[in-house]
Amino acid sequence: MKNLPISFEFFPPKTPEGIANLREARAKLAKFNPEFFSVTFGAGGSTRDRTMETVLEIQAEGHAAAPHISCISSTKAEIADLLQRYQEKNINKLVTLRGDIPSGEVAVGDFKYASELVEFIRMQTGQHFHIEVAAYPEFHPEAASPLADVENLKRKFAAGANRAITQYFYNVDAYFRFIDLCAQHGITQPIVPGIMPIYNITQLARFSNICGAEIPRWLKLRLEAYGDDMASVRALGVDVVSELCEALRDGGVPGLHFYTLNQAGLISQIIGNLE
Ligand code: FAD
Repeated sequence: MKNLPISFEFFPPKTPEGIANLREARAKLAKFNPEFFSVTFGAGGSTRDRTMETVLEIQAEGHAAAPHISCISSTKAEIADLLQRYQEKNINKLVTLRGDIPSGEVAVGDFKYASELVEFIRMQTGQHFHIEVAAYPEFHPEAASPLADVENLKRKFAAGANRAITQYFYNVDAYFRFIDLCAQHGITQPIVPGIMPIYNITQLARFSNICGAEIPRWLKLRLEAYGDDMASVRALGVDVVSELCEALRDGGVPGLHFYTLNQAGLISQIIGNLE
C-alpha cells in the first residue's frame, strides 16, 4: 500500500497471554510501516494504566503510539494529570473521544462531549498533541440528526482536532457521501476511514448494534449461512474488506485505520491483497 498512510488500533491486554499475543501481532503488523499504533481506553477509565503501559511499550519498540483518551468518569484534574504524564513521556498524538457510557453509569465526568475534551487539551497543552477524533459515516446512534452529527464533528475540529477516524462501515458510498456532506458544511480536515475485518459474525453483529454501523443484508445473510465454518466466514470477510479498502484507496482517502482486535492475520491478508 505504497504512499497510503495506515494505522492500527489495539486494546490494552489484561493477561500475560494477551500481552504476549499482542506483541506477536504488533511485530507482524509493524512490517507494514504504520504511521502509528493506537491503544483504546476502557469506559470509566478501567484500562487507564494498561493503556499507558501498552503505549509506552510500543513507543519503546521505536513506533509512534497514540493513546485514546475519553471523557467518561474523568474529572478535569484527572485528565490534566494524564496529559502531563503523556507529555513527559513524549507522546504527541491522542485519539480523543467521549467514550461509550457503561450501562448503569450516571456520572459522565466533567466533560460531556468530545469537543469539550479537545478544547480542554488545547487549553492545557497548546499544540503539543496531534488530536484525532471520531466521525460516523452512518451517523452516531445518539445524534439528533445526520446534520447535527456533522455539526458536532465540525465543533471538534473548531475546538482544535487535526484529523478524524471513522467508525467502521461496509458500504463505501456511506463514506464518500459523508465526506461530501462534511465538505458542504465547511469541514476540510482529513477523515480517515476505520476498517473492521470480519472475524466472527456474532461478535460483529453485536458491535454493529451498539455503534450503529450497518452490515449490509446480503453480507450478513451470506456470513450467517456459513454457520460455524469460520474459515469460509473469514475468507468472504477478507474478500469483502479487501475490495472495500481498494475502493477507498482508489477514491483518494487520506489513510486507512485498522481495528485489529489485537490480531494480525486477516489484516495482513487484506493489506497483502492491496499491494
Ligand atoms: P461525541 O463527539 O461527544 O458525540 C457523542 C454524541 O453526542 C453524538 O451523537 C453527537 O452527535 C452528540 N453531540 C455532541 N455534541 C453535542 C451537543 N453539544 N449537543 C447535543 N449532542 C451532541 N470508546 C471508548 O470508550 N474507548 C475508546 O478507546 C474508543 N475508541 C474509539 C476510536 C474510534 C476511531 C471511534 C470511531 C470510536 C471509538 N470509541 C471508543 C467509541 C466512542 O467513544 C463512541 O462512539 C461514543 O459513543 C461517542 O464518542 P465521540 O467521541 O464520537 O463523542
